Amino acid sequence: MVDYGHFIGGKHVAGTSGRKQDVLQPMDGSVRATVALASAQELRAAVENAKAAQPAWAATNPQRRVRVLMRFLELVNKEYDSLAELLAREHGKTIADAKGDIQRGLEVVEVCIGAPHMMKGEFTDGAGPGIDVYSMRQALGVVAGITPFNFPAMIPLWKIAPAIACGNAFILKPSERDPGVPMRIAELFLEAGLPAGILNVVNGDKTVVDAILDDPDVKAVGFVGSTPIAQYIYSRGCANGKRVQCFGGAKNHMIIMPDADMDQTVDALIGAGYGSAGERCMAISVAVPVGHDTAERLMEKLVPRVESLKVGPSTDSSADFGPVVTREALERIKGYVDIGVNEGAKLVVDGRGFKMQGYENGFYMGGCLFDHVTSDMRIYKEEIFGPVLSVVRAPSYENAIKLANDHEMGNGVAIFTRDGDAARDFASRVQVGMVGINVPIPVPIAYYTFGGWKASSFGDLNQHGTDAFRFYTKTKTVTSRWPSGVKDGAEFVIPTMN
Ligand code: NAD
Repeated sequence: MVDYGHFIGGKHVAGTSGRKQDVLQPMDGSVRATVALASAQELRAAVENAKAAQPAWAATNPQRRVRVLMRFLELVNKEYDSLAELLAREHGKTIADAKGDIQRGLEVVEVCIGAPHMMKGEFTDGAGPGIDVYSMRQALGVVAGITPFNFPAMIPLWKIAPAIACGNAFILKPSERDPGVPMRIAELFLEAGLPAGILNVVNGDKTVVDAILDDPDVKAVGFVGSTPIAQYIYSRGCANGKRVQCFGGAKNHMIIMPDADMDQTVDALIGAGYGSAGERCMAISVAVPVGHDTAERLMEKLVPRVESLKVGPSTDSSADFGPVVTREALERIKGYVDIGVNEGAKLVVDGRGFKMQGYENGFYMGGCLFDHVTSDMRIYKEEIFGPVLSVVRAPSYENAIKLANDHEMGNGVAIFTRDGDAARDFASRVQVGMVGINVPIPVPIAYYTFGGWKASSFGDLNQHGTDAFRFYTKTKTVTSRWPSGVKDGAEFVIPTMN
């Protein structure tokens, strides 16, 4: 049994607030560890430490800074398997899926090796008589990240890597449900040569989040989590004059056109809907077949696939997905299925009663599939964040695109079709930040940016890609004129002091 404290100034420090909570192992419901919940004073100690370390790090030349990232990549690659197992045990996803979680994080670290290039400024020679104008990108100082439970490697890395590559000191407040991997990431960065104090992990809940939002020395906050908390953090952080970017919840639609390859579509849908027990912000939670015949063909192939999904413990390499994160999450998801039934949607596959033999205390649930869901139902409007897929039948393409456009959320969306014209029209008109064309989970690769629209995102810059370097730096623009006087031509006589 581990007691997670905090990682401040390059050292593990025990929590002093007197508050802590259990870290569970969702596959059997056991308590794996405890995690300290920091007070505002503990956060302040971390900020002071980070503030003291940051100027020397920012003054380190950028190529030397990113060499630390290179060494970090090597270290993670050496312990990929054990890191993935730790992640799977605390989160509940399968080990194979946990490896993907780490990998998508490392891909952003790889791109951040290009930080020296991304931080270059602009230069105008002769903007006026004898005047040059140039700009430079400088680190903000101390910045913080507040991250969700569902990608405990990927999302912290999406924030840490660009922030430190740009010369900032970083304070991570990971999810209190699975802090093990973020703590290990901090240790590995130190081992890779990152100076103490540049990456700190302060564990906790709302108390420490509020302390981050109110601390005058924290210059920027990046958040990922549910929409109500995203909105709260955005408002409070902005009111305190910080730079803030917040990414929230989702309700991602997959539009299935009559000409779609139905085998390919169902393969894509089953993975995107139920992978990681539906606990992904880019999971497909609404399938929208266009036309009656498309809907019938979809259901004919989809229902048996949902019925035969293999749910298992995180360590079972043959499982399609594992347990959900907590018993409360399990009860919330089952509650949504009850709501859907009461609202009149047709529950075609019911996974509520699933029990995992030998793991009776784990937080398991089988896949659920609703047909004939309508846009006025709560199960359509709200994010369920579990292995529950809703089918909303649309009479036409216009009706299908309107559904995605009218939904409050706008994180990801996909269209499955063989028609290039429909796909092109869809990509152009849909009011959603990330679009897949015959790709069910269109998480952009690391050198493009990631971000939703509407209630899925607050703030104007996305995560990773070019936006990350803009978010974690401020621009300084210099207008310069030098007095003339050293242009007197060649001098052939040796200069003397006379
Ligand atoms: P959450 O909002 O409950 O928690 C996220 C973070 O906020 C955690 O670190 C948590 O400690 C903190 N927090 C929770 N309640 C708080 C409060 N009242 N005040 C201050 N801080 C608080 O989210 P979660 O359950 O960990 O993650 C799942 C959610 O995250 C889903 O809604 C999912 O769609 C979303 N998500 C979004 C993206 C994206 O990029 N848009 C990516 C992953 C997850």
